[in-house]
Amino acid sequence: MSEEAASSLLITETARQRLQTLGQRVTPARLAVLATLLDSPNALSHHEVAAKVAVSGERCDRVTLYRVLEWLVERGLAHKVAGEDRSWRFGAMLDESHEHPHFRCLCCGKVLCLDTLRPALILGLPTGYTIQRAEITIQGTCPDCSP
Ligand SMILES: [Zn+2]
Ligand SMILES: [Zn+2]
Repeated sequence: MSEEAASSLLITETARQRLQTLGQRVTPARLAVLATLLDSPNALSHHEVAAKVAVSGERCDRVTLYRVLEWLVERGLAHKVAGEDRSWRFGAMLDESHEHPHFRCLCCGKVLCLDTLRPALILGLPTGYTIQRAEITIQGTCPDCSP
């Protein structure tokens, strides 16, 4: 087995475990979409998810794809962030306890999850306040687009 095939198998297994941990039914579409999100370092548009799912060999029409993505967001397995064109980008949710900031490249439109960045303004919230949601998007230029 190639290294690539082994790693995609591992990601599919991770996706399966996440669905099962939540007590959710593991359907081929859910599995394929979640594995696609887990495999990507940046948040993906519907189109990008559809293209990657197709490559994986899973047949998933547009409506099913929309539904599965929203379902994953509702269950806390994925999150969405508005892209440059106001269309949603989807990413796997790796850390359930924190909302993380995003970085949007003004040049190529790529949206990255800054999973490890904890903005001081969240940490510095006065006592007595609890965050339900935080949407922070930093805009600039990604390394690929930097001169
Ligand atoms: Zn860029
Ligand atoms: Zn994100």
